[in-house]
Amino acid sequence: MLQRLNEDGLRSTAPRESVVKAVAAKRGAFNPEALVDELRPGGIGRATVYRTLELLEERGMLTRIHQAGCHAFTVCDEGHHHHLVCNACSKVLPIDARNIEDEIQELASRLKFRVDTHMLEFAGLCESCQARGA
Ligand SMILES: [Zn+2]
Ligand SMILES: [Zn+2]
Ligand SMILES: [Zn+2]
Repeated sequence: MLQRLNEDGLRSTAPRESVVKAVAAKRGAFNPEALVDELRPGGIGRATVYRTLELLEERGMLTRIHQAGCHAFTVCDEGHHHHLVCNACSKVLPIDARNIEDEIQELASRLKFRVDTHMLEFAGLCESCQARGA
């Protein structure tokens, strides 16, 4: 992740590097405020955390998702995909929704509508949380 930011010619400051490292260690969805709390002892302010999250989001390395009514982020692989988010453990599973999207594009074009952006997100329980009876 750091490497990709550097390739983009972004000055990597020590605080920014700490934020990127903390983000890269996340598994599944995480709350930005929890990240702020986590990094505060290291002297990293809220503004730096949010600015870095924005940079990562702009470059497609992070995606903003909704979780239990609040904003969260998840680390992303490259390529267009969507997410299944577990409400119990915050696990995030990527899914390729291209078939569905093609169908929707088709419906939209029949209505002469040009789709510019879309959101598609699913929340529920992952396999292990179902087994635990969450
Ligand atoms: Zn993703
Ligand atoms: Zn999509
Ligand atoms: Zn789960």
